[in-house]
Amino acid sequence: MQLSFLGAAREVGRSGVLLETKKSKVLFDYGVKMSDEESPYPKYPLPVHGFIDAVLLSHAHLDHSGAIPNLFQAAEPRVLTPTATVPIMQLLLQDSIKIAKLKKQPIYTPSQLKRMLRNTDGISYGKEYFAAPDISVTARDAGHILGASSLEVNADGKKILYSGDFKLEETRLHKGAKPPRAVDALVVEATYGDRSHPPRKELENEFIGAIREVTENGGSVLLPCFAVGRTQEIITMLYAHKINAPVYMDGMSRKVSEIYMDFPELIRDYDEFYEAMKWANWIVSPAQRDEVFNEPSVVVSTAGMLSGGPAVRYIQDIANVDHSAVFFTGFQVPGTPGRRLLDEGKFEADDRQLNCSGLDIRHFDFSAHAGKEGLHKFIKAADPPVLFVNHGEEEQCEALRQWAEDELGCYSFAPKLGEKYKLEDYL
Ligand SMILES: [Zn+2]
Ligand SMILES: [Zn+2]
Repeated sequence: MQLSFLGAAREVGRSGVLLETKKSKVLFDYGVKMSDEESPYPKYPLPVHGFIDAVLLSHAHLDHSGAIPNLFQAAEPRVLTPTATVPIMQLLLQDSIKIAKLKKQPIYTPSQLKRMLRNTDGISYGKEYFAAPDISVTARDAGHILGASSLEVNADGKKILYSGDFKLEETRLHKGAKPPRAVDALVVEATYGDRSHPPRKELENEFIGAIREVTENGGSVLLPCFAVGRTQEIITMLYAHKINAPVYMDGMSRKVSEIYMDFPELIRDYDEFYEAMKWANWIVSPAQRDEVFNEPSVVVSTAGMLSGGPAVRYIQDIANVDHSAVFFTGFQVPGTPGRRLLDEGKFEADDRQLNCSGLDIRHFDFSAHAGKEGLHKFIKAADPPVLFVNHGEEEQCEALRQWAEDELGCYSFAPKLGEKYKLEDYL
C-alpha cells in the first residue's frame, strides 16, 4: 500500500494524496492553489496517471476540491463527500469558472464539472462506505466548516486517517471535531503546526468591544469575510451580542448561508444561527449598497481578502466615512489586497491608490483550524506508528513533524512534492 503526496506538500493549497493498494486507487482531495506572491496563475496537484476508483473529498474549500473537475478530462471516478459539502462545492466550482473567465485563465469546462457532479455521492457522518472493492471510508465531522470531515479509510486491514482541515474547539457554529481513535497511519494538516490561537471567547469579546467602540463614535465597520463559514459565524456572533447598529450581509455568502440553513442538524445552536440570519439585512440589490453607510453600520461582505466581490466597493465608500474601521477575521495570504491593506495601509482599486489613513485596520484571529495544542491532542489520540504532515508552510510542517518524532517516537514525515511512501516499510 502506497501514499503519494501530489500537493499541499510543505505548503497550503492544492491538496492531493493518492492511496494505492494492489487493486485500487483513491485520492484524498484534489484542490487548487490560488495565485499568490510567487505566481499569478493557479497551481494544481501533480497529475494522476491511469484509472482512479474514487476521490474522497474532505470538504468544499477550493484548496481541497478545486481540481477535481480536471480529473474528468480523462476519467470518471466517483466522488464521495459528506452530503452538506456537495452544494457548497458546486457553488464554489461554478464560481471558479466565472472568475477564471474574467481573468482569462484556463479552467475545466462546464461539462467536466457536470460529469463530476453526476458522479458525486453525498455520504453521512459515521457510516462506512465502499470507495473501491477493497477500500472503505468513514467520514467524521471535522468542525472546520459545514460538511467538513476527517476521512478514515480501511484498506488491506489497516486504518489510515486523513485529517482534512479540522478544529477541536467549539465555535459559534460548530461543536468541534472529536479526537480520533487509534489508527495505523495519519495524514495531518499543519496550518498552525507551531502557532496557537487566542482563546475564542476572549477574542470574541475583544472583537465585539472594538466594533461597539467604532459605531458608538459614529463610524461604520467593514468586515471582509470568507463566504463559507466565517460570514455565518460572525453574523451569529454580532446577533448574540446584540450589536446596536444595522448589520448587512453581501456577496456570495448569501447563497452559502441558504445552504447552511438547510442543515440544522450540523449547526451547534441552530435557533441562534437562524434568528441571526433573519436579523441581518441581506443586500439583494445594488442600489441598497449606496445607503449602508448613511448611518453607523456593520457590513459583512466577501471577498475575505478583498480580492473581489462587493467588499472592494465597500472599502472605497468607507474610506470616506469618519471614525470607521476595517476588521479582518481570517488569515490574509501574502500578496493579496487584504494583506497589503493590513501591512501597509494601502489599497489599490481601478489602478488608483486609495487613501486609507483614516481607517482603523486590524486583524482578529478567528481561525477555523486547530492551533498547535489541538494538533498535538489530535495526533496523540490517533497514536499512529507513522505520521505524515502536510497542508502547512514549510516551517509549520517541520515543527509539527519534529514534535511528533520527539514526543511520540513515531515515524514522522513532512513529505516533499511527489514523494511516495510504502506503508509496509513502517507498519
Ligand atoms: Zn478548509
Ligand atoms: Zn485547506
